[in-house]
Amino acid sequence: MFPHPSLSDSDIMDNKTQLKTQLFGIDIDVLNMEGAISRLRDWIENGDQRCRYVVTPNVDHAVLFQENSQLREAYEGAGMVLADGHPIVWTSMISGKRLPERVAGSELVPELFDSFNKQGKLRVFLLGAAEGVGATAAENMKRTWPNVETVGVFSPPMGFEKSDEQCELILDKLAEAQADVVIVGLGAPKQELWVSKYVDRIPASAALCVGATIDFLAGEKKRAPVWMQRSGIEWVHRMCSEPKRLVKRYARDAWIFPQLVCRQLFGWKQHA
Ligand code: UDP
Repeated sequence: MFPHPSLSDSDIMDNKTQLKTQLFGIDIDVLNMEGAISRLRDWIENGDQRCRYVVTPNVDHAVLFQENSQLREAYEGAGMVLADGHPIVWTSMISGKRLPERVAGSELVPELFDSFNKQGKLRVFLLGAAEGVGATAAENMKRTWPNVETVGVFSPPMGFEKSDEQCELILDKLAEAQADVVIVGLGAPKQELWVSKYVDRIPASAALCVGATIDFLAGEKKRAPVWMQRSGIEWVHRMCSEPKRLVKRYARDAWIFPQLVCRQLFGWKQHA
């Protein structure tokens, strides 16, 4: 459908020779699912005791990114930035960039579990989602991926991020669990801001900021049918399942995102 994308002028290599490309002002890793899993495995198996985190920009993040300087800072500190959302990948193609495929957070997590289930063992902490959802997810995970052990589950109360006490409680639970990976499902931009603030105190090799993934693991929310995912209209499915929360957001995104695409194609000005 699109010409084969080639390396463009704005593609950059960062200081760890990771190939990135810039879209909407966001430096996104040029990685497919396999590459992302391989890098995660490397962090987990050959890590240096420090936690690295993953963010997964979709259309909504791209819009938020323009107006939220804290989110931009959180993105800067991320160890991996993966394109979640076909519109992001399509824009990369028509603007001559080279994102190979969509790497959705909600797919990255089961792929990671599959990988360790086949080879190795993985200790996981589930942080976020409504009370009880994490426990259901853990039960399902045990059946599907016996080599993936859920070593902790916690659903922080609403507004926890404003309370030092609540944040310390989460850090205590993480310290107790000593997981390899923390699956963080607190919604954007809360999850990115929280993880970037506390990353130095998270005793795990990786923290994955992946929205509703814990709900999907629990079967609490259903992902859109594959044809909708492939056509780039998964958001329609999500909006219909949570109209109250999402209609306003998607209306804003539908107005702003095309403008971002135009700026991407016809000239991008950096943030001041
Ligand atoms: N969530 C949470 N605590 C909060 C806010 C949200 O645990 O303070 C959870 C919510 O229960 C859901 C997830 O975060 O499991 C939101 O996922 P979604 O992908 O919908 O996030 P968004 O699209 O808002 O980034």
